[in-house]
Amino acid sequence: MEELSFPWGGERRFNSYGRFCNERFGGRVQRIPVDAGFSCPNRESRAEGGCTYCSNQAFSPAYVAKSTGIVGQLRDGRLFFSKHYNSNKGYFAYFQSYTNTFTTASKLSGLCDAALREAGIRGIIISTRPDCLPDSILDFLSELNGKTYLCVEIGIESFSDKTLGHINRGHTVECAFEAFRKLHERNIPTCAHIIFGLPFETPGSWIEEAKLLNALNPEFLKIHHLQIFKGTQIESEYLNNPGRFHVFDSDGYVNFICDYIERLSPNIVIERFCSEVPPRFLSVSHWQLLRHHELVGKIEDELEQRDSFQGIRLKNSN
Ligand code: SF4
Repeated sequence: MEELSFPWGGERRFNSYGRFCNERFGGRVQRIPVDAGFSCPNRESRAEGGCTYCSNQAFSPAYVAKSTGIVGQLRDGRLFFSKHYNSNKGYFAYFQSYTNTFTTASKLSGLCDAALREAGIRGIIISTRPDCLPDSILDFLSELNGKTYLCVEIGIESFSDKTLGHINRGHTVECAFEAFRKLHERNIPTCAHIIFGLPFETPGSWIEEAKLLNALNPEFLKIHHLQIFKGTQIESEYLNNPGRFHVFDSDGYVNFICDYIERLSPNIVIERFCSEVPPRFLSVSHWQLLRHHELVGKIEDELEQRDSFQGIRLKNSN
């Protein structure tokens, strides 16, 4: 049977992170999430208390504990993942919790150096907000990028200033574009995070905004479906005003994601299609979709059924 080949040179119908790791590192590289002990400017400096959906407890794996420090967390993580996955090409230190550039360049530099001295660490991934990239941090990131694999993950979350204001994100869409511009000027690889399901937004608006994501031009993309966590501000909003939210079922989400990635640049590597957190954190349990690997299988089946792939409708959508 003739093998298919898509614009990214792989056989899968979307530009997968697995393909990227195989090409760049020769196999699977596992992220080890760490909590560096930073906070978040949006929680500290604003009376409203941060993003309305924020629950860092839900976003952090159970073995992550600030008290063990970066080195302890990386060692615990390595032990955990070595029992569960074949991470045959090593690990990334993933500075995931809160805002990991909400500190000084010298403090971040010390933590990154400590991480890179650990066995098996192949690079650093730093997660942050678009409004937390001062020049001193950008200069440090540029230097770090010259000595190891680096990716900076930026939470965009929405392409609507109205939504960003409503969920109390504390930055604008323009600010996100500016952050990507500054990182790209320094040749630093970027990953964009977006959320589908925020209040007042619809599948139609997300499809329309695929062109904005293409214009942002991140190397990587993480898609999250909105999950509502216990005790968050958005939980009260959802319980009082469910009509503000578009809630997907699994089949609807698969169809929507296929429609979306058909309009996505083939250059963008897709890392995730949905969020996955322990169900005990969820307020509204029917928002828990399939497990990620099950969802990916269904997306690939649907793309095959359509004889379609990432970017097929790009010309018509821009
Ligand atoms: S930027 Fe992240 S850590 Fe800060 S309030 Fe928002 S979701 Fe929470």
